[in-house]
Amino acid sequence: MPLTAPQPRGRRWRIILHGVAVLGLTVLTQLGGLAWLAALAFRRGRLAFLAIFILAYVALWGGAQFAAPVFGRVPLPCSGEVLRTQSRLYCVLLRNFVTPEMADVALDAAQAVAVRFPGTVTLALDGGFPFLDGMPLVPHLSHDDGEKLDFAFYYADTVHGDGAYLPGLTASAIGYFSFLRLGKETCPPVWPTLRWEMRWMEPLHRSIGLEPERTRALIGALAKDPRVGKIFVEPPVAAALGVAGEKIRFQGCRAARHDDHIHVQL
Ligand SMILES: [Zn+2]
Repeated sequence: MPLTAPQPRGRRWRIILHGVAVLGLTVLTQLGGLAWLAALAFRRGRLAFLAIFILAYVALWGGAQFAAPVFGRVPLPCSGEVLRTQSRLYCVLLRNFVTPEMADVALDAAQAVAVRFPGTVTLALDGGFPFLDGMPLVPHLSHDDGEKLDFAFYYADTVHGDGAYLPGLTASAIGYFSFLRLGKETCPPVWPTLRWEMRWMEPLHRSIGLEPERTRALIGALAKDPRVGKIFVEPPVAAALGVAGEKIRFQGCRAARHDDHIHVQL
């Protein structure tokens, strides 16, 4: 005879689903799982659950903007003419935090490009979470200490237009995964790999091309900065742009490909 009453099947599923939601939100935003748990503690019906989740997330989000600097992370700007995140989604999801030094590196490089090419806006992608060293920003392997940051390429109207620079635009809606695919594939097929092809996203991309002058200038400005340790660019992209140097490297075949964005670390 069982010692405990069997759990109703619906209740077991609810626990699993809430567990998945907490885990997923934590992986995506670091603090979203806590907001979900807060909503679980106070829930009174589905609408109230959603309202409490949103309120709790907004409160945690606002608190992180003030508390993270105490722990050594600052948010990159979500709006701005010289440097901003590619989309406000990066800010909403708390993925725009870096160390103050990394923030200075980003702003200095963006300003260097804007001085050479007035009107240029440099777009940051994933940086890091507001708290805790060692918690990676999935799917990145290394964005776990605020000292790593991705930049979007600059784009121009090269496909249908006159090749003019397109401020604030990227080929992909999120800045990632619009791969240039220059030259022959450098890596053998290995498993597991983060070298995703993401071909299903291709019909969703804008028909615009790489703006080489500004992209070259950004990589150059980052490479010149003594605070920067490494810059990851796919070798055919580096060759096409004519950038080279000790800091400009290939990330290896197991990591994500870098012919859709630039990775920089201190
Ligand atoms: Zn990166």
